[in-house]
Order: sequence, then C-alpha cells, then structure tokens
Amino acid sequence: MNTGIFFDYMKSFFLKDLTNMAVAAPLLRANVRTDFKLTYVDTATNASSQRTRYPLFKQPQLPAYNVFDSKYLESGFIDSHCHLDFLLQRQGFKGSYADYQKRHQATFPNSYQGCIAVFCNPFSFNKRYMWEKYLREDKVWAAFGCHPHNAKDYNDDIERSLCAALEHPKVRALGEIGLDYSNRNNCLKEVQFEVFRRQLKIALMKKLPVVIHCRDAHEDGMRIISQVLPKDYTIHLHCFTDTWEWAQKWLNKFPNLFIGITNVVTFPSAKSVHEVAKNIPLDRLLLETDAPYFVPKRSPKGTRWSHPGMAIHVAEQIAALKNIPVKNVLQATRKNTRFVYNV
Ligand SMILES: [Zn+2]
Repeated sequence: MNTGIFFDYMKSFFLKDLTNMAVAAPLLRANVRTDFKLTYVDTATNASSQRTRYPLFKQPQLPAYNVFDSKYLESGFIDSHCHLDFLLQRQGFKGSYADYQKRHQATFPNSYQGCIAVFCNPFSFNKRYMWEKYLREDKVWAAFGCHPHNAKDYNDDIERSLCAALEHPKVRALGEIGLDYSNRNNCLKEVQFEVFRRQLKIALMKKLPVVIHCRDAHEDGMRIISQVLPKDYTIHLHCFTDTWEWAQKWLNKFPNLFIGITNVVTFPSAKSVHEVAKNIPLDRLLLETDAPYFVPKRSPKGTRWSHPGMAIHVAEQIAALKNIPVKNVLQATRKNTRFVYNV
C-alpha cells in the first residue's frame, strides 16, 4: 500500500469514529505522515482543506502532535508554573478556579493533576484575599516571590509580607525571582541584584526551592545564585527561551536545576526552544504554561489566554520533537515535579 492510499484509508477510518484517533494518531506521528496537520478541531470538520494547505511531501517546520491523544492517557501532569490570579482577573472571571475548570472542561484533559500558582506581584503578598482563595482549592500549590520587573518596589515591608505568605502550608517554592535585562524591565541592574540576593537568602533560610526568571542575564544570574546558594540547591529555571548552549551551562553548573519549557515550544519560529526541547534530558525538564501567557499554537481557534490544562501541549510538542511517546515525557516530568515541588 503506498503512502497516499494508506493515508486516505487511515483518515476515513478515524473520521468515522473519532475515538479511534487514540490508536491512529501515534501511528501517524511515528512513521507515516509527520506533515499532516492533525488538530482535534480541524480533523473532524474539514479534512480536505488541510490537504491543500499541507502538501503530501512537504517537510514540516515543526513535527505535528495530536492533543486528542491526551484524553486517553493514564499518565498525569502538573503545570509547574502559572499565574492563576492574572488568569482569572484578565478574563474577568468571577467564580472559583474550580468553576473555571468546569467552564473550560473541553481543554482540560483528564491527565491534568494540578498546578503551582506563582504569585509574583509584591503588592499582593499582604492582601490575602487576592491569593488565599486559590490555595483553598484542591491540587493548587503556591510560590511567592518579587518579580524582577518589580525590584524597585521591594522594601522591608514587602519582605515581611513575603515571609508571612511563605508560611502558608501550600507553599512549595520561592519565586519567581531573578534578573531581567530586556527592555520590558525598567529596574536598575544594581537594584535587581540586591532584591534577587535578599530573596535567595530567604529561600535558603526557609529551605524552599527557588523559581528563577532570567532574561538576557545568564552570566549575572548564575554568578549571584552561586554566591548565595549551595551548588546542589533545587532550582526551577522558568520559561527558558534561550539557546541550547546556555541551557547546558545552567544544567552543568547546578546538578539539581530543572528547565521549564512553556508553549513557546509550539511556535514554529521558536527555533532555539525546539533545539532545547530536542536535546534536554527528560530528567531535567519541567512542563509549564506560564498561563495566562503563551497560547499553544494548536489550541482551538479564538483562544486568547492559556490555562494550566494546556501544559499538555508542551508535553505533546516536546514528544513530537524528540520523536518519543508523550507518555515518556509525562512520566519523567511528573517525577521531576514531585522532586522539586513535593507534589
Ligand atoms: Zn511566570
């Protein structure tokens, strides 16, 4: 059977019965057609237009995945970094996070097992009504830390309320903290250094893992961390978007550092992240959405914000890039999340 006929056969077979996609899709991904754009929206409705847009033997920019697979997965995942407060505020959602999940049921796969909610606005630390409600919910844990964008706002009062917030029983880490030299940050480097150091010391004192935000500041970031923390400290280097060379430097320098990859990996233009995804050992990887930011490329049309359920897209895209089953990515990252966050 030549590829074209086989492909048509496969397509008619799973168009008839969508539940068969769980069986068909890994086959397609494994060796038959990596160029077929397989999304759970388009496949069911408009297969012929896809063929026009994606010629049969055209080499894809980014290997495809089928998020429909995840409906049937036994392995679970945790979104290791999201901003629940921003997520609900941005959408003007009045209910609880549990209500939000119900509303967006279609895009929360069964394999979703919870999230680490990161509270990084220093003005919210002493306003418990802004974050405590999220921590009352099942399968939501927390990290608190002053974001480098807010370094200029940090003072003794903020530090006191940060330390108080960190006492909450569902806190699992301190962060996101770090350095950001991009033009989105107007805080002086010296101010950022000082705020970063002070918070690293608090983490050390409280024996909490740290969540690092480091944008265009790798050398200074590594230097400051090694001045304050022991080499084997547990670190989540969050939303990594730089080159594999820089990723290796971090991984080699800190043996208990994990790199967080977001749905930036689903963007065809994010070549350096694809390289990191291909090369990073599974035992050093964390899945994260950084929701509400970074909407997966393959999410349903019109999706404006991402949410923790969409970490499955990160896993699927990384599996497709590594050409391995998504189950392997989920199992490894689930283990890493347990190691870092004790969840
Ligand atoms: Zn973040």
